[in-house]
Order: sequence, then C-alpha cells, then structure tokens
Amino acid sequence: MIEHNGVVLVLSGPSGAGKSSLINKISDEIGDYYFSLSTTTRPMRKGEAEGVDYHFVSKEEFVKDIEADNFLEYATVHGNYYGTSLHPVRQALSEGKLVIFDIDVQGNMAVKNRLGDITTSIFITPPTLSELKRRLEKRSTDSKEIIEGRIQVARREIQRTSEYDFIVINDDLDVAAKVLKQIALTARLKIPHIKINEFVQRWEDIEE
Ligand code: 5GP
Repeated sequence: MIEHNGVVLVLSGPSGAGKSSLINKISDEIGDYYFSLSTTTRPMRKGEAEGVDYHFVSKEEFVKDIEADNFLEYATVHGNYYGTSLHPVRQALSEGKLVIFDIDVQGNMAVKNRLGDITTSIFITPPTLSELKRRLEKRSTDSKEIIEGRIQVARREIQRTSEYDFIVINDDLDVAAKVLKQIALTARLKIPHIKINEFVQRWEDIEE
C-alpha cells in the first residue's frame, strides 16, 4: 500500500462560472477537505462576510504578508491583491486532506510549479461568453464597469484553459457537479513523486 497524503484541487474560471455553487453541491460527497480561504484587498461585496468568503485586509497588511513570505502564491486580479496563505495549506496537507483552491490562472501556474505532483486543476466555465454575461448581470452584485472588467478578464483567461488538467462546462449544475465530484475523488489518488520513489525501492525486494 502507498499511504495517501494530502493533495490539491485547483478550481479556476470566471466569476459567475458557478464554482462556489458547485463546491457546495458536492461538499458532502468528496470526503475530508479543506477549502483554502484566500486573503484579498478587494472590498467586501453585499452578502459576503470576513472569514467566510475571504480574509479582507488592507493593501498595507497584504504587502506585509508578501514581505514575510506568508503566501504560497499571490496575484493581482481585477486590480486587487488575492493570495493563498501557506500555513493553513501546509497544515491541511499534513492531515491528508483534499485542499481546494479557488484561484485564477496565475495562481494555478504558481501552484503547479510548487506542488505540481500532488495537484489536479480544473477550469470551470459557463458554456459561452454571452451566458457568462447574462449570469453576471443577473447576480447584480457588481456595477456595469466591474462586470465589463470581469468579462475582459474571462476572455483572456479562457485562452489559458489548456494549462488545466480538466475543463468543466457548467451548463446544467447537476451534470457539472457530477463531473466535478468524479474529478475530486480521483484527485485524491495522486501520489507525490517522493512516495512513488519510496514504493519503487520497496517493490524491488529481490536481491540480485
Ligand atoms: P472574486 O473577486 O470574484 O471573488 O474573485 C476574482 C478572481 O480572483 C477569481 O478568478 C478567483 O478565482 C481569483 N482568486 C481568489 N482568490 C485567489 C487567490 O488566493 N489567488 C489567486 N491567484 N487568485 C484568487
């Protein structure tokens, strides 16, 4: 047997793709997981809460954390800082959990570079740009300018879907949730290189 340690599941995709709804839908069916709560300097939206959606901090606090090397990765998205704190992720991985990140394409690349052998990545998107626009307008949490900005970012991000292991098209929420669940369960089976090497050494149990 190869003992399983923690693994990472990266979810990216435009705001409005339905990432949070999908995670909520499958949360009881994917075993023990830790959802990485990001830190951001963007203003809190209506309906959001500190410690639930993000850690909301000032730019000064964020920069202090960068300088203290507290982030696994961080990026500027829509003109605000977003970052993943290293410590809780390390902790969750050492407890053997599935660690889920909701991060952008820059974050995905950074995580791939640092934790590639235990990472599975998924790009989640509505079926078309016009559907994304419709969903963002319906959500009405953002101004017209912000929605326009998000659409421009989505257009750029969709060009980078080939950097992901999977693409999940969230047209029908139930169907997309089923696919996501399968990928999440499979992500758990990833084995870090170091464990594979140990296994290979143990496997060669006949002396020549
Ligand atoms: P929103 O403002 O809609 O909550 O998120 C905007 C974008 O920032 C989304 O694409 C989301 O995936 C990304 N994001 C959220 N947290 C992080 C993070 O910690 N790191 C990175 N790189 N992107 C993040």
